[in-house]
Amino acid sequence: MSNPSLPPPDATQAATLPGSPPPYNRIGAVYQPAPKRKIPGLIIDVHTHSHNPQLTREFIRAADDYSIGGIWTMAPLEDVEPLRQAFPGRFEFIAIPKWQSMSSPKEFIRDWHTRLEGFYAKGSRLIKFHNAPGTQKRMGMTLDHPDIQDVMDHAYRLGYHFMSHVGDPQAWFGEQKKYSPAEGHKSFVEQFPMLERMLEKYPDRIHMGAHMGGSLEDLDTLQKRLDRYPHYIIDSSATKWMVRAIACQDVGRVRDFFIRNQDRILFGSDLVVGDKYNYDHYASRWWTHQKLWETDYNGESPIDDPDAPGGVPRLVGLNLPVDVLEKLYRANANRWLYGRVLKLAATT
Ligand SMILES: [Zn+2]
Repeated sequence: MSNPSLPPPDATQAATLPGSPPPYNRIGAVYQPAPKRKIPGLIIDVHTHSHNPQLTREFIRAADDYSIGGIWTMAPLEDVEPLRQAFPGRFEFIAIPKWQSMSSPKEFIRDWHTRLEGFYAKGSRLIKFHNAPGTQKRMGMTLDHPDIQDVMDHAYRLGYHFMSHVGDPQAWFGEQKKYSPAEGHKSFVEQFPMLERMLEKYPDRIHMGAHMGGSLEDLDTLQKRLDRYPHYIIDSSATKWMVRAIACQDVGRVRDFFIRNQDRILFGSDLVVGDKYNYDHYASRWWTHQKLWETDYNGESPIDDPDAPGGVPRLVGLNLPVDVLEKLYRANANRWLYGRVLKLAATT
């Protein structure tokens, strides 16, 4: 069963061979108990795909152990009330379409308009536009498509702020790759003009770019985008991608980027809840993010990564200063999301 909070996957994940270590722990890392944090207090995870309360219990057990407090999720509209009842005060909801209805584009768009009203009525004020190359192809629409523009305008009129997934890891673009020109895909750099048109069009709304705006591997361009659009913020979600993108470049330069943009980056994991995942899977993502942001760990990553150069995923920590961590982990989410998007007082 595909996850209702995500567009359907391009291909099924490779199965683990019997006897091989699980993909969430290839090096025997100890996830329980969670390692001690560099700073105390609860962390806000602004990017998850938790849904179904029953499946979310194990995710919450790991969240509690890893000091994760407030959680923003892209759950289907039908799961909003059940999640609120099961975990009062824990979740905020990002409006998404019904991905299962994508096979009929007309119905998909019609239903999306209905859903964004439904989410709005339940208090959502952030709407996500997933427009990675694979999603563009399956929807047959980019962010520039008039039907998507109508959805954006509708959301804007209601008072929504925006979130987007644009681009994907650079390793997936090119001949013989997942996004090859022969399959009709645009290049990595060609993904972003539609994002910039959207940023131009709604300068008075916050826009959160998922996965470091899709551009952690292109920091110069990302810096220009942040400088040019003061309403643009980014989340640190997608563990494998972030780990790989940092280990592949000058780590000092990435650390400088985080320090320079310390008011604009929000912590997110991109954890997906599902019946195939267990406690250690959930813990592995938060454990790895902890090493990435809080420590100078330099070694193998516990998480399997088929795109790792040389086949061995490396994890190199940024060891961010405590005041930067404080902003990444909660102050920025409090200010931008709870304070400005939801207009609520800061959480703890
Ligand atoms: Zn996501």
